[in-house]
Amino acid sequence: MASVIEHVSVQVFKTEARTSVDSYGHRHPGPSAQTTQALLSITDSDGATGRVLGKPNYLRRDQVEQHFRPVLVGTDILMREAVDTKFGIRQRTRAVELPEHSLSYVDQALWDLAGNAFDTPVWKLLGGARSEVKAYASTMCGDTLEGGLSTPEEYAAFAVDLKNRGYRGIKLHTWMPPIAGAPDLTRDIDACAAVRDAVGDGFSLMLDGYHWYSRTEALTLGRELDRLKFDWFEEPMDEFSLRSYKWLAEQVATPVIGPETVPGRHRARAEWIVNDACDILRVGAMNGGGITPALKTMHMAEGFGLECEVHGNGAPNLALVGGSFVAHWYERGLLHPFVDYDWVPPHLTSIVDPVDEHGMVAMPTAPGLGEQIDLDYVAANLVEEY
Ligand code: MG
Repeated sequence: MASVIEHVSVQVFKTEARTSVDSYGHRHPGPSAQTTQALLSITDSDGATGRVLGKPNYLRRDQVEQHFRPVLVGTDILMREAVDTKFGIRQRTRAVELPEHSLSYVDQALWDLAGNAFDTPVWKLLGGARSEVKAYASTMCGDTLEGGLSTPEEYAAFAVDLKNRGYRGIKLHTWMPPIAGAPDLTRDIDACAAVRDAVGDGFSLMLDGYHWYSRTEALTLGRELDRLKFDWFEEPMDEFSLRSYKWLAEQVATPVIGPETVPGRHRARAEWIVNDACDILRVGAMNGGGITPALKTMHMAEGFGLECEVHGNGAPNLALVGGSFVAHWYERGLLHPFVDYDWVPPHLTSIVDPVDEHGMVAMPTAPGLGEQIDLDYVAANLVEEY
């Protein structure tokens, strides 16, 4: 098979959102509002297309015209490493024009294209480890909404609800700025204790709290998590300080997991491994630079006997979890008492990750990444195409 890429295009379209993002980039419940999304499409000489949905500001006209098309058009659809090297050269001097998120979308679209060309789900192309996975319920950050996630007691009540729905694990995101009073170490500890008390022993709990605690604050929190028997402790400090994570991991029994946001893909994560800065490695399709570098990271973790949990929800992260056993969980969220995660936005015909009553998410059976995009809706709500 020698199909080559012929067309690269982006459609920006109007759709509906039912959550809103605060000034720190965290999602909260919101009223129904119009928003824009972008659809990147890469089509080959046989007519197969790879598609990925993304944010318009990471799939801009200048990126498509000056970088995506010059690198991709005329290239064999399976030459992902060759493509990645060409983008890497461009990134070195033009990193601002080509952020990792943009290249992640390109990589995801190429995997979707490969899956469609071979009429095979991507999770099988990535290794094919399992056809279903247990999901943990990942909560939104704390807020000030009464009946939402504004008190430790409300976290506890929501945790019971999630457990009753079948989830086998819950990850708390606690209060972060700009929410009033955040961060608050005592309130974080109270929420973790209230949730443990509510769900009982033997139920998996994780914490992803405020990301800029000091070493001593993180240690205080970590020792409470030891007492409360949490499964992992995620990103309590700035991840640029690898030394701080090594310092923390040596002192708490709860597994420290990371890194989520540091740049450098699998190469930066190799440094975390050899410096013993984490007990569980972390990578995602977005922050890790795409499916390809995330898969390299997962294989590297396997070689060191490390678990590697996949950050974030959605089709590319579900595919990664389906392709390897080094991740134990799929992160399903973000969840909130006021938000219906299972709501299907108008540009999709179904969601990719429905969960059953046992807390399991099935891998897609459709070819490619399995995202069910309503192309007629996209065409009918087009804002711009380039
Ligand atoms: Mg996180």
